[in-house]
Amino acid sequence: MRTNLDLRQQNHPLSGLRNVGILAHVDAGKTTVTERILYLTGTIHKRGEVHDGTTVTDFDSQERDRGITIFAAAVSCDWDGHSINLIDTPGHVDFSDEVERSLRVLDGAVALFDAVAGVEPQSESVWRQADRHGVPRIAFVNKMDRPGADLDAAVASIRERLHVTPLVVQLPIGQEAGFSGVIDLIRMRAYVWNDDTFAERQVPDALLEQAKRRRRLLEETVAELHPVALEEFYARSTVSAETLAAALRDLTRSGTGVVVLCGSAYRNRGIEPLLDAVVAYLPSPQEVPAVRGISDGVVQERIADPRAPFAALVFKVSSTATGRLTYLRVYSGTIRKGDTVVDAGAGRTERISRILRVQADQHAEVQQAFAGDIVAVIGPKSARGGATLCAPTAPLVLEPPAVAAPVVAVA
Ligand code: GDP
Repeated sequence: MRTNLDLRQQNHPLSGLRNVGILAHVDAGKTTVTERILYLTGTIHKRGEVHDGTTVTDFDSQERDRGITIFAAAVSCDWDGHSINLIDTPGHVDFSDEVERSLRVLDGAVALFDAVAGVEPQSESVWRQADRHGVPRIAFVNKMDRPGADLDAAVASIRERLHVTPLVVQLPIGQEAGFSGVIDLIRMRAYVWNDDTFAERQVPDALLEQAKRRRRLLEETVAELHPVALEEFYARSTVSAETLAAALRDLTRSGTGVVVLCGSAYRNRGIEPLLDAVVAYLPSPQEVPAVRGISDGVVQERIADPRAPFAALVFKVSSTATGRLTYLRVYSGTIRKGDTVVDAGAGRTERISRILRVQADQHAEVQQAFAGDIVAVIGPKSARGGATLCAPTAPLVLEPPAVAAPVVAVA
């Protein structure tokens, strides 16, 4: 039987897919942001709070009950006609290997900061790891409602400690406990939240001059870094919303600058624009460089094409009541329920008996998964984190980035 999810996948070209992780210092609010994202995308229906232990993200007991949880390696959700796979990245440096492996399977990330603390040492080290893996990032300055929250100071710490140009696209409305919304400096519109609902409004008169100055600053910064924006800036002495958005996307993907947004996950403010930014600025699996692997001593490139030979990286294995879940990032080809694949490094054959897309409080079985996607499979008995599963007819071992050898492209 074909499930809705299968149909959804078919309707979703790869360009609509985002594989993203949240990179954060412990306590910056990753659990809360994740939970709010799942709530807003309709993946879960009840809001939970971290302090009363009802968020879906952090329970081992529920994991045992359901056999699965979003603390599982990846959760899928939908936003604005796009599919987002949210991949868990451990916040602790102790799990550095796990961080490395999850960074390998991401196409983009949201770097989360605390509006009071700004960039902290742990955020610096994860940032460097993401640099090494070439993961494009946007930044979300969380906890804007806290006493002492200071977006400008957090932005300064991003510039100084991460050595990247911040591209601030929002102006907060209100401070600390009075933080009630943001002005989108690209479109010059205000978003104001009231409990769970938010409304789009004109920029309030009291903030108009300040918003214009901030937009000017954004235009100047972007024009310095992006030739098309520069041309428009000279010709019209302004930069249109469309050009700004396109330039910000390019700058994000090249790592030249980092788009900075702000909000308060705890009070559910700023999460919708964050999801919009994930979709707008972070790349799809089609827009990232091909992965490389070694086959018979020769380096091959695999592109995200569902018709290419199947190759996937195992990035996490977990034992649950449902069975041994092997989390895969599919890099090329298509995998179907019932397929036999090869663990190329170990030289073993494995069978794929079920394919699951993981959601917060359920897992949905699908018949197949395509290049670019992230799924959990049941069946493989011994494949470990870091292993490559691939088509028996085209075996290869996916290597960590930067392998120096001749490249042979595989169509
Ligand atoms: P994690 O360790 O990064 O997963 O962080 P959590 O999501 O568990 O949050 C850590 C603490 O910060 C919890 O007590 C949250 O309730 C609190 N918190 C998270 N987001 C916000 C926020 O936007 N504002 C405030 N004031 N507190 C927050």
